[in-house]
Order: sequence, then C-alpha cells, then structure tokens
Amino acid sequence: MTIEFKKQIIKSRFLDPARGFKETSFDLEIRRDPLTESASLIYHGMDYPPLSGPNPAELQRPQGCPFCPDNIEKATPLFPEDIVPGGRIRVNEAVVVPNIRPYSQYSAVVPMSSRHVMKLDELKELTLTDAFVASKLFAANVAKHDPEARYLSTGWNYMAAAGATLTHPHLQVNLGSFPTPAQARDNQAAIVHYEKHGANFWEELIQQEKEQGERYVGATGNVHWLTAFAPRSRLLDVIAVFRGASSFLDLSQADLRDFSVGLVSAFKDMQEHGLHSFNLAIHSSFEGNEHFYCHARLIARFTFFAAGVSDRSYLELLDGQMFSRITPEKMCQSLRKHFSR
Ligand SMILES: [Zn+2]
Repeated sequence: MTIEFKKQIIKSRFLDPARGFKETSFDLEIRRDPLTESASLIYHGMDYPPLSGPNPAELQRPQGCPFCPDNIEKATPLFPEDIVPGGRIRVNEAVVVPNIRPYSQYSAVVPMSSRHVMKLDELKELTLTDAFVASKLFAANVAKHDPEARYLSTGWNYMAAAGATLTHPHLQVNLGSFPTPAQARDNQAAIVHYEKHGANFWEELIQQEKEQGERYVGATGNVHWLTAFAPRSRLLDVIAVFRGASSFLDLSQADLRDFSVGLVSAFKDMQEHGLHSFNLAIHSSFEGNEHFYCHARLIARFTFFAAGVSDRSYLELLDGQMFSRITPEKMCQSLRKHFSR
C-alpha cells in the first residue's frame, strides 16, 4: 500500500448571472498522477455533456483510400526482405505495411479490416485481436532483425477528432533506439518506485484500486481495467494493465483477445455518451523485468458544437495542464455496467 493518491480542492468564486448575480463557488480538484506526478484539473458535480459535433464517419469517403482492398497491394509500400520476409505480414484481414510517413526507424501501419468505415459498435473482438497479433508479429520480427530497436510504441488514432488522417481503421507500430518521452518518463518513474518500495507500481495499483473500489472497473482474463486517478482526457481515460507481463512481446494470443474483449466493452460506454473518437497507446518495456507491467491507455477524443470545437486547448498542449470535466469515479461507474455483462 505505497501508492499515494494526492488531491487538493480549490474554490473559485464569482457572482452568477443565472442566479441573480448571487455569489457562487465552483469546486475544482487538482490531482497528481500517482506514478509521474503530472497534474490534472477535475470539475466536481458535472455530467456527460450532449455532444453534437460532425459525424466522423461522414468526413472522409473511401475513394482513393490506400487501405481499401482494391488499392492495398499497389498503393502501400513493402518492407525490405531483411526486415519482413515477403514484405508484408497478414493475419486474416489485418495487414502490416510500412508507414510512408514514418515516426521511427521501423514504422508500420496496420489496416485491420477490408472495411473502410467501422463504427464503434462494428469493431469486434476478432478484428481487434488479429490487428494486435499482427502488430506483435511485426515487432518480434524487428526485434530479431535489430537488437538496438529496443523501444516499441503501439497506438491507434480512431477517427478525425483523434488525429486520424484516414477513416479506414488502422493501428500504428513504431520501433527504434529512442523511447517516446512518455515511455521514458513512465519507465523512469517505475524504476524509482521499485527501488523505493520494492514493488511493481502496476501490481500495487491493481491491488489498491481493487480494495478502494472507486476506480476499478473489472478484469478480462489477465487484463485489469481502471479509470485513471488523474485523467488525461476530458470525458474518458481508462488504463488496462497486463498483469505479470512487462513487454508487449510477452503477451499471448489469449491476452490480446482478453484485451480486445475489454476494449469492446469500453467502446459501448463511449457510444452511450455520444463519444466518437479515441486515442489508444500501449506502453511496453522491451526485456522482461520486475518494475514494469505492459499497459494501455484509452482516452476519448471528441469535437463539440456544430463548429466542431476541439477538445484540446492551450491548457493541455502548451501548459501541460490536463483537464477532466468528469470525475474518474463517475467514469468508472459508467464503464462498470458494460464490463459486468
Ligand atoms: Zn479504406
């Protein structure tokens, strides 16, 4: 029981025109991420807002999409033979191809289906599992080919509001000799935690959150789901911990299927609240070690009002001040309904 959940309430006073200019106090909470200490600002007593941004599935038509079945063979590049024999990896409909705008030395995209548009309720466990298995096969290939490519980052931008330039659903897999700043920060903080307390941070997080019960959503097999104490999204931030596995490469097909089952449940919660986009990142350590558990983070992205207002502002992007309109405890209550079914 060494993890501290630090929070502080602050009050902001103003004379409210909606109440005849009576003095009103608005409660804000500042929370610190229990691993990295990064701050999140949280509103109290707010509900999920009605969202009426443009329908993301209408934003881009399939014409010319390189990931559609008629184009994929001729429009996507091949990996050199020494990296991926045969040039591409296929697992059922999932295909691993090079990213023509790479983010690292070994940079792949993984169109996961022959279908150009898959709405949240159409993303099923089998499609997702195939895409994660294909990503893992690519990462394992690279690891064998180049031992210096120790840092693996896997992610997904789903729909335009989350930064996806193509509607066609696809994962991204990047390997190289440099970690992303968030990977480096998580890993360093996990080492410090392990040295100070002699315990794996995520193992303790699962135990403490389970006992406290406010943010623990549930488990799908060996994957434990909880809402982040200090959210990095305004409406939804879920962490999935692969208990006992430090590397993405250590995950079994069953783990990846269990993860996909949980994602489908989280997508149901997003639909309930009109959320139409998300970012997903999987943080992995490369070699088996005691201080790190592989874990994923899923945050909702959205636009609002007819003008399609962005859910990111100077607060998050320049000041690094994360902000959540909903408390993680409320997010958890909502998610639990879908995980208990
Ligand atoms: Zn397409």
